[in-house]
Amino acid sequence: MPIELVFDQGLGDLVVVRSAGEALDHSVVGSLEFGVAELHTPLLVVLGHQRCGALDATIKAIDAHQRTSEAGQIGYLVETLTPAVRQAEGKPGDRLTNAIHANVDLVLAELRKSPVIAPLEKSGKLKLVGAYYELDTGRVSLT
Ligand SMILES: [Zn+2]
Repeated sequence: MPIELVFDQGLGDLVVVRSAGEALDHSVVGSLEFGVAELHTPLLVVLGHQRCGALDATIKAIDAHQRTSEAGQIGYLVETLTPAVRQAEGKPGDRLTNAIHANVDLVLAELRKSPVIAPLEKSGKLKLVGAYYELDTGRVSLT
């Protein structure tokens, strides 16, 4: 689903940076920093979603005690998402859903370390929020 439709916006109205599991790397953080600093986007939404396959794969890799040796960068992705799965361990409720929420929180915390994003938030020019997109209903709830 195009994210513009989820938020009832026109094409080109949003700066959209997508990565599996909202995983951060230099390119993703740089794109977000560019959006808020150069394009003056006033709101940065970290949007997790129901049944996230990337976090599900991370759970499966952890359970299988796999050092993911997949070709390419999938192992990097799983390593990046592992702290969220660990943080959700032992919590009541659905494990994957908990990991998705934990991941949104961790991504927000990481973005707040950015020397570009942090001062904009402190000055009130930028707001950071976490959100959860429920695929079944199309509802987005702020976390
Ligand atoms: Zn996902």
